[in-house]
Amino acid sequence: MSGKRVVNILVYAEGDEGLRFLKRYFRKRRGMRPTFANTPEELIQELERSSHDVMIIDSPNGTEEIRKKASDLPTIALISGDIPKGLRSVVKHNIDYYLLSPFHEDDLEVKIKTALNRRSWFEKLYSEKRDLEAIIELTYLISSTLDPKEVLYFIVKKLSEMIDVSRCSMISLGFGEKRYAHVVSSFEDPNIPDIKLDLNKYPEIKKAMTSKSAVVIRDAMHDPLMRPVRSTIASLGIQSIVVIPVIYRDEVIGTLSLRTSKTKPGFTDREIKLCKAIANASANALYNAFLFERLKSEKARLEKLAITDYLTGVYNIRFFYHRLEEEFSRAERYGYPVSCIMLDIDHFKRINDTYGHTKGDMTLREFAQLIRRHTRKSDVFARYGGEEFIILLPQTSLDGAKKEAERLMKHVKSHRFKGIEKERITTSMGISCWPVHKINTAKDIIALADNALYEAKAKGRDRIEISGRLRKKTYR
Ligand code: GH3
Ligand code: MG
Ligand code: MG
Repeated sequence: MSGKRVVNILVYAEGDEGLRFLKRYFRKRRGMRPTFANTPEELIQELERSSHDVMIIDSPNGTEEIRKKASDLPTIALISGDIPKGLRSVVKHNIDYYLLSPFHEDDLEVKIKTALNRRSWFEKLYSEKRDLEAIIELTYLISSTLDPKEVLYFIVKKLSEMIDVSRCSMISLGFGEKRYAHVVSSFEDPNIPDIKLDLNKYPEIKKAMTSKSAVVIRDAMHDPLMRPVRSTIASLGIQSIVVIPVIYRDEVIGTLSLRTSKTKPGFTDREIKLCKAIANASANALYNAFLFERLKSEKARLEKLAITDYLTGVYNIRFFYHRLEEEFSRAERYGYPVSCIMLDIDHFKRINDTYGHTKGDMTLREFAQLIRRHTRKSDVFARYGGEEFIILLPQTSLDGAKKEAERLMKHVKSHRFKGIEKERITTSMGISCWPVHKINTAKDIIALADNALYEAKAKGRDRIEISGRLRKKTYR
């Protein structure tokens, strides 16, 4: 309890002697603010309305209810008149301190002081108990099988409930990482996107990493550590910063970072101790989150690699077949149309022969990217092989596919390819469509588009041909 703070004392005195004594006592004491209750009802009301540090009652008789309501409020009783009866009542009601008539101011002074001391001890014990409970709760949570990111969110959320902060985040570093860190969890938002931090702008995190110990900054604007970034933090209104390193097998894999704003005082020793305990308990969760993220991105990378054509960067034929089966059975089930365009660059061999294979490769890539840019997201565009490409157009009629092919043809024709600007690249295309054409299996749709393409080539190239193999029966 700080020595400067005003002490709030709740007083309930019935007898004249007690009342006179207390009024005289408080008149001389500026650091104490007494509130006098005239009836037991008023006293109860006052107990419910505001918080007090000490309660003084004269005549503890009939105060069961009051004592129940104020069980953790230190109480001093004034006993006059029938002293043995008063003492029995003090014992019965479990009252901590008492004064016997005639009352002495020094005596009351000592009793109030002792009561306040005891109260602050209790408060400390209570807050330590609360901290311990939080650590136990978090340890339990961390060892459960939740998603590590979720665990980290619970950690920062719980901490921010216990400590009044403007920001509380878990920051991941990754092994060997020196330049950048990532905010993996922040109490303001359970679903924050991965935010990248340039460590040069966060000297406090850098220091916690290199020193492997907690960094406590009481006054961010005037701390020498923060000098290089003072102008950046000036507008943020930061008062104090605490950064605790999270250490896994001797390596700093992240930090627990907290800030208070100017309206709040800095961190207390108890709060820093709590943060340290929680940072310790979080090491496994943070490590798992880091592994989990790495695994996820590696998996995504492999998946992408497996379906991408290495030269052009568009889908490969394997992926195309996979989607074709899906789309074809969906089309059959729901009766949607589905179309296919097969395209082949005209006289591509000449490009290779004139400009070399490397230029040829670059042109192929540029061609593929150009077509991809101009196809709908729902269409599947893949390299079929060599300089041949294929597009699957789900829920697209023959007419729609024809328009699409014409549009693409124009885009290719008007495009100037890098390094071969003099050349005009043209394409030939073949189209097939279910249920217009005689298509029984998914592969038939490719075969018919391929035949139509062959026809386009035979008829002189730079043109679109539609499969002639119409379905005999009209489709239901
Ligand atoms: P057309 O289709 O108009 O009949 O003539 P074309 O010259 O384009 O067709 P052809 O099938 O005769 O030759 C295809 C050429 O495409 C042969 C080959 O040099 C080239 N080609 C195929 N794949 C690649 C590749 O990955 N890179 C490069 N640079 N060229 C390729
Ligand atoms: Mg060709
Ligand atoms: Mg070809």
